[in-house]
Amino acid sequence: MPQRAATIVGGGIGGLATAIALHRRGWRVEVLERAPEFTEVGAGISLWPNALRALEVLGLADTVRALGAVETGGGVRDRRGRWLSRTDNAELTRRFGHPLVVLHRADLLRALAEALPADSLRSGSEVTAVRDDGQHLVVEHRGGESRPDLVVGADGLRSAVRRAVRPDAVGPRYAGYTAWRMVTEPLAEPPSEGAATWGRGARFGYTALPGGRMYCFATASRPPAEAASGPSEHAELLRRFASWPEPIPALLAAVPPDAVLRHDLYDLPPLPSFVRGRVALLGDAAHAMTPNLGQGACQALEDAVTLAHCLDGTPDVAAALRSYDLVRRPRTQAVTRRSARLGAVGQLSWPPAVLVRDTAARLTPAWVTLRSMTPVLGWTAPGDRATG
Ligand code: FAD
Repeated sequence: MPQRAATIVGGGIGGLATAIALHRRGWRVEVLERAPEFTEVGAGISLWPNALRALEVLGLADTVRALGAVETGGGVRDRRGRWLSRTDNAELTRRFGHPLVVLHRADLLRALAEALPADSLRSGSEVTAVRDDGQHLVVEHRGGESRPDLVVGADGLRSAVRRAVRPDAVGPRYAGYTAWRMVTEPLAEPPSEGAATWGRGARFGYTALPGGRMYCFATASRPPAEAASGPSEHAELLRRFASWPEPIPALLAAVPPDAVLRHDLYDLPPLPSFVRGRVALLGDAAHAMTPNLGQGACQALEDAVTLAHCLDGTPDVAAALRSYDLVRRPRTQAVTRRSARLGAVGQLSWPPAVLVRDTAARLTPAWVTLRSMTPVLGWTAPGDRATG
């Protein structure tokens, strides 16, 4: 087969992972990224065993693990700081072959970008149109025009490629709560375990990054608002969370005020298809989900290796994309629904409902919780018998 060319729109985690997966299978790839450079926001990211299995296929699992922190465990606490449930990372590894790894997003993106030829990465290249004129696929962008054999729309929640190939699709819907993310300065004595503390209509979580820093995240139910960052958001966090149990106040004190980011949370109503002809949607462009399971990027990594697998050994790109759609759509839409349900429970605010929630969490054995995660975390890469 002559060398085939793919244009990937969007250089986030999903786009770069797709470029690596295709490049490793002999495709010529270009990644068109609108931003002036390939980078990520100042926050951490959790990668679960299913993501590490996808990274194994990309040859990057060891690299990413070395960039991240692996805690012994963590869990969920109630508003007074009492444990409701615990997770054990050794048990996670025993069941699913990998631990939960948390790393800085910028480190992950750098590792992905470094796995690609430098001339395939084209920043400052906003894509303005994607069309199929019957004979050619045409991608119009700041730097001109591309005519590849395959286009992958990995351009995130407000995807332009999605609007081009599925103009009828319903747009993202607000989950009803906003999220803050931040990274502390290095701490002399960081907490020994991560935790998510569940309050009434609000949650605060923290987990270790390498070098004594902690990645913290918080949510609160409120009407939608523009994304914001900086000292005013830090002040808002203090107002809401300074009276929560330790180590939350200590962590907030260790966060540089200008390091606080706030984004409202959205997910995407299910699309009837992730593909049209030789154009595929992937990652948040296809199935943006709330971050309650920490699975958005994990699913994008799964998408990337599955897409490359489907394209392997067949000259018929459109048929391969139909297979990709058949495999990935039901799975990612189920994870999206599950994440939304967990978020609704986590954000409960009516006191009797909070009491029932917390009691149920306290009474559920850890192994039951872990086993219930098997459909999500027990994913195996297509064609991968070794980990099956
Ligand atoms: P994006 O990261 O959105 O990348 C899209 C890229 O496309 C961007 O670089 C953008 O600049 C570019 N782009 C957009 N339009 C164009 C255009 N027209 N032309 C060219 N380029 C364009 N997931 C996890 O797995 N674990 C977690 O712990 C986790 N925590 C999260 C916490 C929060 C608060 C949030 C909001 C999300 C979290 N997620 C997590 C989800 C995860 O961040 C996303 O699912 C993931 O980053 C999606 O990657 P992507 O490449 O599909 O999209």
